[in-house]
Amino acid sequence: MPETEQNNNTDQAQKASGEGTSLVLRTLPDPILRDQCRAVEKFDKKLRRLVKEMKAVMRNNDGIGLAGPQVGFSSQFFTAEIEEEFLFLANPQLVETSQTEDELVEGCLSLPGRALRVARASEITVTGQDQKGKKKTLTLNGLWARVVLHEMDHLRGVLISDCGLPVPPAQEDNSG
Ligand SMILES: [Zn+2]
Repeated sequence: MPETEQNNNTDQAQKASGEGTSLVLRTLPDPILRDQCRAVEKFDKKLRRLVKEMKAVMRNNDGIGLAGPQVGFSSQFFTAEIEEEFLFLANPQLVETSQTEDELVEGCLSLPGRALRVARASEITVTGQDQKGKKKTLTLNGLWARVVLHEMDHLRGVLISDCGLPVPPAQEDNSG
């Protein structure tokens, strides 16, 4: 299956996730969330259209990050947006992680209503490719490091329910 073709194998009711997109947000127990995603090889118009729609899905759902499998693509890419700064990254690879970790409460658009406390490296260096396939290297910290690590987990089928600790529901929620 080409990586820009949506996989519709799901038992769940399908509903588009809002204005500006026909993408369907996948939630547990959709099995695509457990896939080991394939590398992105084609950086074409289709991919760039998809990225625009993913941005709409994030905005419609108050999310700050969204990975391919969350909208039906078992493919190694994600989008993120924090305070109007947008990031797309394909085929991400961690090249460095700090020894120090921070703990923060995270949410996930694929686990509606859940919030979990997750420890993650406070600084990372990651390589990957932009929408045109151009290689880039990013050094990130704080919330940016966190969201990128959260989305990279999605690309290998890992969810916050696998690595987080429960917290009282009143606490802060950073949905990704
Ligand atoms: Zn998530």
